[in-house]
Parts: sequence; C-alpha cells; structure tokens
Amino acid sequence: MNKSSNNIFFKNSYADELQSLCERCFPSPFEKSKVLLKNYELAEELGINKSFLDSKQCLDIFSGCAISDSSIPIAQAYSGHQYGNFNPNMGDGRAILLGEINNKDIQLKGSGQTPFSKNGDGKSALGPVLREYLISEFMNSINIPTTRSLLAIKSNETVYREKEIPGGILTRVAKSHIRIGTFEYVYNFKPESLKLLADYTLKRHYPELSNVNNKYLSLFAAICDKQSYLISKWMSIGFVHGVMNTDNMTVSGETIDYGPCAFMDRYDPNIYYSSIDKYGRYSYKNQPAILIWNLTKLAETFIPLVNENIDKAVKDLSEVLNLAMPTYEEYFYTEMSIKLGIKDVNEKIIRLIDKYLDILKTENIDYTISFRDLSMIHSNKIKVSESIFKRVKVFDKWYEDFSNTVNIKNVPKDIVSEHMDGYNPCYIPRNYIIENALKEAINGNMSEIEIMSEYLKMPYKKQKIDSRYYFSSDYNQPYTTFCGT
Ligand code: AMP
Ligand code: MG
Repeated sequence: MNKSSNNIFFKNSYADELQSLCERCFPSPFEKSKVLLKNYELAEELGINKSFLDSKQCLDIFSGCAISDSSIPIAQAYSGHQYGNFNPNMGDGRAILLGEINNKDIQLKGSGQTPFSKNGDGKSALGPVLREYLISEFMNSINIPTTRSLLAIKSNETVYREKEIPGGILTRVAKSHIRIGTFEYVYNFKPESLKLLADYTLKRHYPELSNVNNKYLSLFAAICDKQSYLISKWMSIGFVHGVMNTDNMTVSGETIDYGPCAFMDRYDPNIYYSSIDKYGRYSYKNQPAILIWNLTKLAETFIPLVNENIDKAVKDLSEVLNLAMPTYEEYFYTEMSIKLGIKDVNEKIIRLIDKYLDILKTENIDYTISFRDLSMIHSNKIKVSESIFKRVKVFDKWYEDFSNTVNIKNVPKDIVSEHMDGYNPCYIPRNYIIENALKEAINGNMSEIEIMSEYLKMPYKKQKIDSRYYFSSDYNQPYTTFCGT
C-alpha cells in the first residue's frame, strides 16, 4: 500500500468519534484500473481541482492503490430489515469509507473485502457501477436528494456473477452513510453508543436541533420529514427504488444504494422491477407505506433516547410517526400540483390530480411524456389529437376542469407551460436505453453511456438527439432488474 502525498485532505469524523461502530480496513489495490466517467462539477463542489481529478495520483487513491496521508479508511457496521426480516450482521461488505471532504463522505464501492464481507468478494461488477453513476447524477439533476458519483472506474479484474464479467469501483459521495440500519445495529448491539450516534447525527445533519428541548424526539421528527419528502419526490417522478430495506434508507434523507431501481414508463402503480422482490413488496404504489414501516423501525431504536419511561417514549414517538403519512401526502400533492403548473393545493386540486393519475392508469399512458404533452396542448403547440391523449375519451373533460382551475385560468397559457416544462423532465434514464448502453460499455464501447450522461444533465431541455432517448419503444417488453452486486 503506497502512501500518497496529499492533494486532497480527508477528515475522519466517523472513524474518530464512532470507533466502536466501524472497522478500520484498507481497500484492495486494483492495479491498471481506468477511469470511465468523472464528474468535474462535483469535484469542484468538493474543492478538488480538475488537474488533480485527471492525475494518476487521483486514480491511485480511488482504485485503492494509494492511501492519502489524511485518510483513515473504515467499513461501517449496520444491521437492517431486509424484506421485512431482521438481519443483524450486515455492514459495509463491499464499500470502504475513505473519509470526508467538505463534510461529505467519500466512499469506494466495490473496493474489495472488508471485515463485513462474509463470503462475498467485496467487489462490484462494472455494469451496476455505471448504472449507479448515471442514475444518481440524473436524480441530482432533477433535484431529488441523492448520493452522488465522482468517478466510475473499470478495474483490470473480472468478477464472478454466474459468469465472469468486468469489475468496477464507484466513488460515491454522500452527506453521510448513516442508515436506519445503523441505528438498528447500535440499538441492538451497542446500546451504550446510541446517544453518541444520535448526537453525531444531530451535529452532522441537523445542527439546528442540538439545543432544543428533547432533541432526540426532534431528530426523529426531522428524519421523518426528510424521508417523507424524499419518497414524495420519488413518487412524483415515477421512480421505483426496488429495495427499500432499512439498511438502504439514510437518516440524511438522500436516495442511496441504486441496485434494482428503475423509472416507470407507462403509469402503473403496481409496477416493480426487481428480480428478487417476489411479491412486489417494494412496488411503486407501496413506497409510501414502506416509508412508514421503515420509520416505525427507526422509532423503536429511539425509545431509550426519548424518555426513560418507555410508555411515554412510545406515546411521543407514535405521535410524531402518525404525522409522517399526512406529511408525505402534503409533499406529494404539492409536487404533483407543480408538475401541472398549479401553485397551490386544495381539495379541488387534489381531486384533479387523482383524476389525472386515474386516466394515466386506465389508459396505460407514459408517465413522463404525459406532462410534456399536456404542456404542449395547453400552449397550443400540439392538438390533443397529436398527443399521447389522442384516444382518451375522458381527457377533454379533465382538461376543461384543469383549464377552469383558478390558478390556471388566471395565468397566461405559455407561462403555465413554461413552469411545467421547467419541472417535468423530458428525458429520464429509459429502461431499455440504459440497458443497451450498459451492454455496449461492458463490450468496451462507452459512447452510449457518454451520450446518456450528457442529456441527463439537462433533462428539461429538448435536445438535438435521436428521438428514441425521449420515447420508450419497448413498452410491451417486461423489464426486470437485478441487484447491483
Ligand atoms: P446492498 O445490495 O448494497 O444493499 O448490500 C446488502 C448487503 O450485502 C450489504 O451488507 C453489503 O455490504 C453486502 N454485499 C453486497 N455485495 C457484496 C459483495 N460483493 N461482497 C460482500 N458483501 C456484499
Ligand atoms: Mg445497501
């Protein structure tokens, strides 16, 4: 292991302050690795300059061949409820935290075995690395809280996943990697450290709550709020995370662990994509209910923090928990009303939104394109007969109600459309487009991935690229995703 003289400086607050909740370990060196995607914008936000990002020294650090002097690499311990069942022993089995830059975690995903790897190789296949890079950066482009991707690296090794395939390493950047599962681990196995973890979480993510009365109850409320907001954003964009286990839910409210996730094409609340989700536990429409299920698991870990009297703690936490669904709904309808170019939410607008979704469902309409076409209809750029709604008999009636909504009626049509187009992406990572791009990349041709990476940075603007990136041509093929190991 080489020591690298510093061009980047890591802090190590987790390793320093929560020593009992992590294991020190080193990434395996992946010699002759190659950077396939790099994120100059994110690097700049972190204070890493372009020349460093382009350097051999940088590649050495992020492929595990060198360790920065300032870095204390660790793997974090956590538990989690997977598909409803408690798994006490999880932890970072294929990820190593190098440290923090600008208060953000810098983690290598796929950098070899750790003390938590059990029988796993600790490595990642290249396909899921590129997929996470593209999708997480797209989520960021549409303002959905998410971990980010700094580098996607192709290792010079293959990994064995039923067959031999190219390996990769993702450099993931996150507000932190503290999960609901981290609290579950500490509550069950390190109860003496529960306050320490809660105080660390407060300091790092919710410093404004550090001095309020019953700060831990406020912390729980803040996490409920952040998670409710996050799921409302997912629902509004048609994102199906696919594996909402408690170990995959952050207390910072960022989307994390892009495994079998996908975006829906046609609006179908029952849709789920993951090959291992046998009964659709994590289907699109179940996501809000699972949000509450997961927060309930978090609430249990907060009982000793909130009050010595268990009954009182349960009562206080339940009161907060009971607000999570109404909070989610408020966020959701606010998101949806903005998508329709409406500013406020009231009973009438909620009915209008529900009716719209009902039409999309009954008529099997592409979710993403529906909002773009509605905008074009409204600003007279296309007729209904030229739109995705052309065979929908009830659309005219719905549109009449929509146009007569005070908030729409009183605003010039092109302004309403402009708002809609600024909020509804025309490009999403379409399932078969991304699948094809990954297949090409695995065979050594990165051009499709590079095209996607560019247009997904500006998803609201129609670009001079092939129309297949906009339309989905594969509606009728069922789409299945596989966990990103
Ligand atoms: P994930 O699918 O990323 O949510 O991971 C679930 C659990 O499996 C975590 O504890 C991971 O660390 C572990 N895991 C996943 N893939 C591997 C691997 N290739 N080697 C070791 N552990 C792994
Ligand atoms: Mg995970």
